[in-house]
Amino acid sequence: MSDLLPPSPVTPTVDLDGGGAQHGYLRLPYSRDDSAWGSVMIPIAVIGDGDGPTALLTGGNHGDEYEGPIALFELARELDPAAVRGRVIILPAMNYPAFRAGTRTSPIDRGNLNRSFPGSPTGTVTGKIADFVTRHLVPRADIVLDFHSGGRTLDFLPYAAAHELDDKEQERRSFEAVAAFAAPYAMRMREIDAVGMFDTTVEAMGKVFVTTELGGGGTASATTAAIARRGARNVLKHAGILAGDPEGAPGRFLAMPSPDCFAFAENAGLVAFARDLGEPVARGEVIARIHPVDRTGAAPAEIRAALDGVLAARHFPGLVQQGDCLFVIATTAS
Ligand SMILES: [Zn+2]
Repeated sequence: MSDLLPPSPVTPTVDLDGGGAQHGYLRLPYSRDDSAWGSVMIPIAVIGDGDGPTALLTGGNHGDEYEGPIALFELARELDPAAVRGRVIILPAMNYPAFRAGTRTSPIDRGNLNRSFPGSPTGTVTGKIADFVTRHLVPRADIVLDFHSGGRTLDFLPYAAAHELDDKEQERRSFEAVAAFAAPYAMRMREIDAVGMFDTTVEAMGKVFVTTELGGGGTASATTAAIARRGARNVLKHAGILAGDPEGAPGRFLAMPSPDCFAFAENAGLVAFARDLGEPVARGEVIARIHPVDRTGAAPAEIRAALDGVLAARHFPGLVQQGDCLFVIATTAS
């Protein structure tokens, strides 16, 4: 894939293969009205010398999800290169323009980084970030951990996740890394639309890939930030990059076995949930009601569970629009 493409316009200010603890940038030229020869400066840390396995740890793939950036800015500062066997490449805020704006997508090009992979060196700013990560960082990695949470519009039970894969050995190794992360829940995850995702690109390159959903609502709690901190170190221990065994239990197993897991709003309005995250739900029961807000006396739309399980995710703001993902039900059978 890489041979036919022009070179990336991104210049790292650190040696991606060098040793010690390096803190610098991926400098991406971005010519604009207020800076003719300006750049987007994406923070990156490279810790260790590459003599051993390499882990790529990424946060801020979406700019309004904060557990990953909190855990990874801290980890980048704290990791002692003498304690690292191999190498850790850390991008705490991968879609940096979106992270600085506090928005899911980039304010420069509206790019949703996690729908922009594998990217293009001649694309928009977001596409160029994706292309550099795809062609220069993922190939160096043995294991990739990408942090997500719900952002401003969703809230999740805290889980680490991997996907069902055609390569069952790769799938097994990915779920071992999910177990090592030791979030309260471990999800066999299904995507609504996997095209363009970082996940899909990394998995297609044969790497062990772990993602998370650790909360949401456009902030991080003390609890979910702590889960992220421990999970990052646990994955490094699991990979043999840090000494010691992962701490904590593997997490309660959840799965998303069919598209029926997702419920979408067919009406706009005021949402009233009948269940909270983590509560058991039965097929057919009302999970949420959407009240019309343009008059009194009108009955709400009732949205029911299509299967037995637990409420694993929900729309966060109190008002919903038509087409919003309203909730996700995960099953508990292993
Ligand atoms: Zn996300």
